[in-house]
Amino acid sequence: EPAVDARMQARRGLELDLRRALEHCAPGFGDSNPPRTEFEVFYQPTLDLRSRALRGFEALVRWRHPERGLIAPADFIPLAEETGLILPLGAWVLRRACAEAAGWPETMTLAVNLSPAQFAGGGLVPMVAEALGMAGLPPERLELEITETAMLQETETTLGILRGLQELGVGIAMDDFGTGYSSLGYLRRFPFDRLKIDRSFIEDLGQREASDAIVRAILALCSSLGIAVTAEGVETVEQAGALERVLDGHGEMLVQGWLFGRPAPAAEIAATWFAPGEA
Ligand code: C2E
Ligand code: CA
Ligand code: CA
Ligand code: CA
Repeated sequence: EPAVDARMQARRGLELDLRRALEHCAPGFGDSNPPRTEFEVFYQPTLDLRSRALRGFEALVRWRHPERGLIAPADFIPLAEETGLILPLGAWVLRRACAEAAGWPETMTLAVNLSPAQFAGGGLVPMVAEALGMAGLPPERLELEITETAMLQETETTLGILRGLQELGVGIAMDDFGTGYSSLGYLRRFPFDRLKIDRSFIEDLGQREASDAIVRAILALCSSLGIAVTAEGVETVEQAGALERVLDGHGEMLVQGWLFGRPAPAAEIAATWFAPGEA
């Protein structure tokens, strides 16, 4: 099967490149000498729906491959997860994002994504504590995002680690809410601080009564459970308007999406959002 062979070779090549790139991400490298790493953290703004006030940013990793150019996470995070390389990569992203966020205005929050593989091995809580400590970032400013798949295995172990993270003072968000098999089951078992409504529910908001009803129900659920809510993937004025109607002046909803800002490098978001006189 020459096609399969070629695919495996391409994958093997990418894995070697990933390994090579990560050699420059050991503690001490990425932080003091940023140009040496091929990875970069982009940041996407999160705003309060009603006031449109900036609340913080989500860290989204990018890989500047020397030959292939900018690679999106969908094209290397799965490989990093399969090969275990997500551990050094995830640690690097967290350290780097915490260090950059420590320079933002002090009300700004930082959200960082975690992979299921980072829950194995028992090193996650100390790793997060160390990243916060090195950066001098208060734990209250950090929120860690996990998808439901992270919780599929070792439920008790996973819940223990999540509790350990909350004890550090960081927030825990359930990402892509509504896309998994047992979203509600997890909500019952673990006190999430935030729930991020998946983009698929936002897409046809204001056009399909079912979508409006689902978002309304999620809001009601979160309000009674005391969980904060973010709507992801808001692309149009119509979607934002529909969200405002659903919110109907009650409570608070944060929003993220192209309508408000695309993920961008740290320097660019600083220039856009923290420029003197605009902050
Ligand atoms: P996610 O955590 O659900 O992040 C949101 C994704 O949606 C991002 O894609 C973002 O660029 C994109 N997005 C934001 N607003 C809009 C919008 O209005 N419309 C549309 N169509 N898309 C929007 P990105 O940066 O390509 O990241 C994809 C996924 O890769 C993330 O999904 C996350 O699961 C994963 N990922 C990214 N960075 C990291 C990381 O540092 N660690 C881990 N473990 N996963 C990461
Ligand atoms: Ca996320
Ligand atoms: Ca998401
Ligand atoms: Ca996702």
